[in-house]
Amino acid sequence: MTLQHATPIETPELEIQNPTSEARNSQSATQNLSLDVRELHFSYPDGHVALRGVSLQIDRGEKVALVGPNGAGKSTLMLQLNGILTGKGRMSIGGLPVVKENLPQIRARVGLVFQNPDDQLFSPTVFEDVAFGPLHIGYSEAEVRERVMRALDLVGMSAYAERLSHHLSVGEKKRIAVATVLAMDPEILVLDEPSAGLDPRARRSLINLLRELPHTMLVSTHDLLMVRELFTRMVVMDNGQVVADGPTATLLNDDALLEAHGLERV
Ligand code: ADP
Repeated sequence: MTLQHATPIETPELEIQNPTSEARNSQSATQNLSLDVRELHFSYPDGHVALRGVSLQIDRGEKVALVGPNGAGKSTLMLQLNGILTGKGRMSIGGLPVVKENLPQIRARVGLVFQNPDDQLFSPTVFEDVAFGPLHIGYSEAEVRERVMRALDLVGMSAYAERLSHHLSVGEKKRIAVATVLAMDPEILVLDEPSAGLDPRARRSLINLLRELPHTMLVSTHDLLMVRELFTRMVVMDNGQVVADGPTATLLNDDALLEAHGLERV
């Protein structure tokens, strides 16, 4: 994913419908849902159809891998989750509908980590990068400091607070990018290809970090070895649709499925 996708941030109107009474009645049955996406459709301004009726539910505490060939719609889906892009359908995060008036809370709830950490880190120091979100929503200085140090501690980077962000290695930057969203206490972490471009040691360290974090997660990746190791549930997208959703152990052994959607056996 590149930030190019993020440019239509000023789309005029959210077309996401308000929940119907039927949906509200079923809310008690879905209380444990962290993410609830129903029949989401989206076309880019040039008319290209990128999502064709995507539905996806993720329970609190679940860690789910999102896989599929390039162009499947994974990044487009992720950008919908905090309203950077807006399609037609229903979506909620921790029960809060993704509608225009909720976007500030939604963006605090969805910790979206871009593939390229340079798209996420833009302050001189690590501390300032991690402090940016909490400062922006108006926490006191003491609260901001506490959140920054807690987030850095969670990613094992407490000693890096005063370092210059642009001097760090890619692996270190990725951990700091995760800290920038952890500082907001997100409901769900949404990571786009977190292990891409990492050397084996940095990849291992990232995998260990994702294993240790207790958060609900949706992680898009081409790293099927990581998927096998870390995620018990896997969602396959192709051509703007969810084409499979189930236990990783089962789906990764389904040769016909892997072949049909350009995935390699691991
Ligand atoms: P993935 O993340 O699975 O590789 P994307 O969500 O990036 O897939 O892309 C889904 C589809 O939308 C692709 O066909 C891609 O070419 C198209 N697409 C992505 N960004 C844009 C854009 N800004 N304008 C038009 N089409 C786009």
